[in-house]
Amino acid sequence: AKELGRDNVQFYAPEFNSSGHERFLLQEELRNALARGEFTLLYQPQVDLRSGHVFAVEALIRWKHPSLGLISPIKFIPLAEETGLIVPIGDWVLHEACRQNKAWQDDGLPPMVVCVNVSARQFKESNLINRVVNALKDCDLEAKYLELELTESLIMQNVDMAVSTMNALQSLGVQISIDDFGTGYSSLSALKTFPVARLKIDKSFINDLVTDENDQAVASAVISLGQKLNLRVIAEGVETNDQVAFLRKNNCDEMQGYHFSKPVSAQGIAKLLNKEQGG
Ligand code: C2E
Ligand code: CA
Ligand code: CA
Ligand code: CA
Repeated sequence: AKELGRDNVQFYAPEFNSSGHERFLLQEELRNALARGEFTLLYQPQVDLRSGHVFAVEALIRWKHPSLGLISPIKFIPLAEETGLIVPIGDWVLHEACRQNKAWQDDGLPPMVVCVNVSARQFKESNLINRVVNALKDCDLEAKYLELELTESLIMQNVDMAVSTMNALQSLGVQISIDDFGTGYSSLSALKTFPVARLKIDKSFINDLVTDENDQAVASAVISLGQKLNLRVIAEGVETNDQVAFLRKNNCDEMQGYHFSKPVSAQGIAKLLNKEQGG
C-alpha cells in the first residue's frame, strides 16, 4: 500500500488512458463540468503542532458528477492535465479558493492562508503569474493569504524555469510550499536556492511512520533539513496519536490529516474555526 501511495498519480491514471470512445466521453464530460458548475472545493485544516492553532487550509477539488457521483481528483486531474483542461479548471480553483478565503475573513473569522495545488501544465503553460494577480485582485485578497503547493517533481522538471516563476510569485507576496517532498529527488544545493516557505513531507512516509524505520529516517531527515534551511515543515496524512507523538518529538512544525480533520466544506471550516475561537 505504501508504494501505491508514492505513485498514486501513475497508479490511477491508466483508468482514463484506455483510448477510444470511453476516454473521449470522459473528456467531454470533463469539458462540460466547468460550465455546468460541477466542481466544488473542500478544505482541509493545517495545524500548528505546538499551539494546535489552525493557520491554513488546503483547497482540494471534487467533481460532483450528476450520474457518476463524487469523483476523486486522483481520477480526473491526470486527464485534465493531459488534455489541457487543467488550465481553466486550475484557474477556477484559484479564484474560488481566493473568493472563499476573503468571504471567511469578511465573516469575521481569524485570517488564514488558503493553499492551492498547482499542476505541472498550469505552472508551465498558462501565464500563472497573471492568473494569480487577477485572482487576488478580483477577490480583493491580500497575497500573503494565498499559498501555492508545487510538487517536488514539478519543480525538478525544469529547475531554472521553476525558480524564476517562484521568485516572481514570492515578490507578489504569495507563499510557496513544496508538496510531496521526499519523492522527487531534489538536490540539496538546488533546494537552498528555492524561494519557498515550507516543505510538506509526503504522506507515503507518514502512513507507516510508527513501524517503518526507513520512513522514520526520511521524516526526521526532512524535519532537520527544514530547520537548517529555515523552512517550516508540515507532515501530511497524519491519522493517529502515535504519528503526532513522533512528529512532536522530532520537532515537526505542522500537521495535516484525518487525525485533526478530513477535508470539509467551506461552512465546515467556518464552524470549526468559530469553535476554536470560543465562539
Ligand atoms: P495532495 O496535494 O498530496 O493532497 C493530499 C491528499 O491526501 C488529499 O487527497 C487529501 O484528502 C488526502 N488526505 C489528507 N489527509 C489524509 C489522511 O490523514 N489520510 C489519507 N489517507 N489521506 C489524507 P485528495 O483530496 O483526494 O487529492 C488527491 C490529489 O489530487 C492531491 O494530492 C493533489 O495532487 C490533487 N488535487 C486535489 N485538488 C487539486 C486541485 O485543485 N488542483 C490540482 N492541480 N490538483 C489537485
Ligand atoms: Ca497538496
Ligand atoms: Ca501531497
Ligand atoms: Ca501525493
